[in-house]
Parts: sequence; structure tokens; C-alpha cells
Amino acid sequence: MLLLNPGPVTLSARVRNSLLQPDLCHRESEFFDLQDEVRSRLLAAYDLDPGEWVAVLMTASGTAAIEGMLTALVPATGRVLVVENGVYGARIAEICIRYGIGCARVVGSWLDAPDLTLIAACLDAAEPGRPFTHLAVVHHETTTGRLNELRAIASICRMRGVHVLVDAVSSFGAEAIDFDDPSLTAVAASANKCLHGVPGAAFVLTRRRALASAVCRSYYLDLRRLAKLQDQRDTPFTPAVHVYYGLREALREYEEEGGRVARRARYLALAEQVRRGLFSLGIETVLPVQVSSVVLRAYHLPDGIGYAQVHAAAKSGGFVVYAGQSGLSNTLFRIATMGAVTAPDIDRLVDCFASFAPSARRNDRRADA
Ligand SMILES: *Cc1c(COP(=O)(O)O)cnc(C)c1O
Repeated sequence: MLLLNPGPVTLSARVRNSLLQPDLCHRESEFFDLQDEVRSRLLAAYDLDPGEWVAVLMTASGTAAIEGMLTALVPATGRVLVVENGVYGARIAEICIRYGIGCARVVGSWLDAPDLTLIAACLDAAEPGRPFTHLAVVHHETTTGRLNELRAIASICRMRGVHVLVDAVSSFGAEAIDFDDPSLTAVAASANKCLHGVPGAAFVLTRRRALASAVCRSYYLDLRRLAKLQDQRDTPFTPAVHVYYGLREALREYEEEGGRVARRARYLALAEQVRRGLFSLGIETVLPVQVSSVVLRAYHLPDGIGYAQVHAAAKSGGFVVYAGQSGLSNTLFRIATMGAVTAPDIDRLVDCFASFAPSARRNDRRADA
């Protein structure tokens, strides 16, 4: 079965085999070698200076890394402006509310780009004495496949001295992220999306300066303590050792394959192959290509064919595709091209779709537009 859902991904044989390494006590030097290598390779993925940036590892899924980032880096008196144009933006706001972190939301339609003018206006309209200290945004909003304009949002924040916290769970390792922008303070992501590791490890890359003033709202996700111990070749808890084996191997493979630029190019080629193939069957993308990530694309469900039918037919052909979330589940489905996926796999996928949606083109909702 080939996974075309947005993580976990189909593993390469190399990563899968790396899980079968010796049992390891997490208090032995071999484990700390593993932890050190993973942490430094995560920084290397974006050529980050270890003097300025630190990778904080945790055994958890991506959401925990986001939760750790928010709970540690927003001070008690801080306020977060949350940019929300999908499920994951909404999740950021929910986390802030759960922890009593002061926040306000810029909510847009899930099918639209964040409104930059509104973001600037919200930052400028903060109550006197309660300025926004942080802005939190999803880079690749996996809900729709939209790549939010991180660069433009960061520059609005830079001019106002606002720190940017990014959910890059489904873009880290593939899409460009401008770490040189001084407003960019931290990025949260996980092992099992664009890095092609096994689920169970997540991380926050943050500036050391931000960590120095971090606060502690959560025991397990206390980034400052995690970073301090990891810097000392230590760990407070029992990490998922085998998951770290997988992540190390995935990061080695990533580098050998050409790093971020090569990964992006590979995803782009596969995503375009899917798009062209489905287009020939009358199945169109929900968003224009220019605003879409290379990682995942959302497609209109073919007329008269529900998601359950698409899913079942794809699965019987050996593919797991993904439903739309919340209100979008009746109108769209999603196809990600992360993991050990090849061009011949996509040829087979398109053949599979042709077998159950051969007449979609005639019913194209835009044919008479
Ligand atoms: C997958 C994803 C997450 C959450 O990841 P989990 O590992 O399921 O906790 C968060 N944000 C985005 C944008 C994602 O795509």
C-alpha cells in the first residue's frame, strides 16, 4: 500500500531497515551520538548556524512540537496573533486558549490566503499596553495544500518587532523557509512528513536567544530544559530510540539525495504529474498551482462520486488518499506526494482513477463556464 496521505509516509527500504538496529539504553553514549547527529542534521537541512539556532527534539507527534513552541516561547505577558486559514491554524488558537496564552485570531476562509492588510491592521490595533509579541502561522496549510506567504507575513512582523512562530510540520525539509529573517523565532515540525522518517519524533528549531527567555508552562514540553539537557548529551525522559534511528537514516538519505532543493524538485515533479493526470480525467485542483505547496494538493471530488468511493477505489488499487477535513470533506480530497513515491507509482495512480472516474471530464463543472 502506498501512502499518499500527508504523513506518515511510505518509508524507503533503507529507513525501514534502520529500525532493526541494536537495542540501546538512552543513558549510553551511543544514544547521545544518535541524538547529536539528528540535532545537527536538522539544522543542516536549512544551513543554520548552531551558534544561533538549536534543534530541540522530543518524542511526540508534530502537534506536541507546536504546543511546546507556543507554551515555552510566549512569555506570561505575551500575546499571540494567530493566522487561521485551515484546521492547523485553528489548532494553534485552541492550544493558546487551552493554556491561557493571550491570543487573537485573524480568521479567513479556508480557501483563501491570509489577508496581509488585516494582519498588519490587527497588529497595529492592539490595545494599549497589550501589544502582540508573537504571531503564529502555519506555513503549509495541509487542509487545502496552500503555501501561506511566510515571507510577506514575516516582513510585516519584522517592521513591528513581532516574533514569528511557524507550524512547518508539513513543509520542513521541502519548502523554502527564510531563517535569515530576524522576526522568524521558531519553527516546529516532525520526523514523518517531508523528512521521510517514522512517526514519533518531533522537534522545534528555535533561536538560542529566544530560548534564554523561555517560560515553563508544560512539564514534558519544557523546551528550555530539553535543549539544555540535549546540549549536555543528556535527556530528561525515555526517547523513542528506534524512531530516532529512523530519523537519522532518513536525514542521511535526505542529504545524500541532495537536501532540500532536491526534495522540493522531486515533490514538484510528482505533484505536477498527479495534477496533469487527474486533469485529463476532469478532476481539477482546488487551488491554483502558484499558491500551492509541492507537498500536497487538494482536488475537487469528481461530480457524482463521493469521497468514500474515491477512497475505496484508490485503496483497492493500492493507494491511500486523504479526505478533506471538517466542512471540506464533501467537496475535496487530497493527495500528498511525500515519502518513497516514484513517477511509475503516479502513472499507476492515474490509471486507477481512470478506471472509476473515466467520464468525469464530460461532467466537468466548468465545461460551460
Ligand atoms: C500533520 C500536521 C500537523 C500535526 O501533526 P501530528 O503529527 O498529527 O501531531 C500539524 N500541522 C500541520 C500543518 C500538519 O500538516
